[in-house]
Amino acid sequence: MSELSELDRAIYEWQLDVPGFGESGQRKVRSATALVSRIGGLGGPLAFQLAAAGIGKLILAHGGNLRQDDLNRQILMRWDGLDKPRVESAAKTLANFNPNVEVEIVNANVSEGNAADLVARADVVFDCAPLFEERFLMNRECIGQGKPLIDCAMYNLEGHVFPIVAGRTPCLACLFPETPPHWKRRFPVIGAVSALVANVGVMEGLKLLAGFGESNIGKMIHLDSSSMEMRKIKVQRRPDCSVCGPLK
Ligand SMILES: [Zn+2]
Repeated sequence: MSELSELDRAIYEWQLDVPGFGESGQRKVRSATALVSRIGGLGGPLAFQLAAAGIGKLILAHGGNLRQDDLNRQILMRWDGLDKPRVESAAKTLANFNPNVEVEIVNANVSEGNAADLVARADVVFDCAPLFEERFLMNRECIGQGKPLIDCAMYNLEGHVFPIVAGRTPCLACLFPETPPHWKRRFPVIGAVSALVANVGVMEGLKLLAGFGESNIGKMIHLDSSSMEMRKIKVQRRPDCSVCGPLK
């Protein structure tokens, strides 16, 4: 693990004082590569906070061009990026914000063709995709390759974060054996709600990487921004889970 540079100390000074995190936590975060699958309303603020926290490298995977109706929530984007690849707008914003973080962009969503390679190059994976097909792919690859996965999702005023560690916790397919019926591509979302879920996801990832605080692996953290209630639900492993089972 590399030492902190003078520039690192200058930028991250305020968080080096966080109890339990400190210099050793910062070095672990600085040495890590995070894959963020989709950088929209949820993955965008999530990647932004990972850059602020001084992650070593971000791999951002998201296909397609920026549209006007992305701008109520996709805070890594900028108006001058309209009709251009979202990942380019995101990379520009992050480079202006913290050039001390390496950013690799992939102008494609996670698919059967790229999932194994993308996961192999990351130390931790943040799954912020709206479609279950992509989330199941990330789950399968992370369990298979033994990489921690922070599954983040939201709908309407609610959201959840589910930190998964292969061999130690149930997986996403234990929680959802199949795509829930009537799941739609377009869903109701206010940017502050997706960012709220994102920030919870970042904290779970940082705690896993740096080994501080109380990790919630194996628990689904459910957030309801209507009432502002947060609940933690222990997820049960399915003995017949096709991804992480059978139970030993
Ligand atoms: Zn499972």
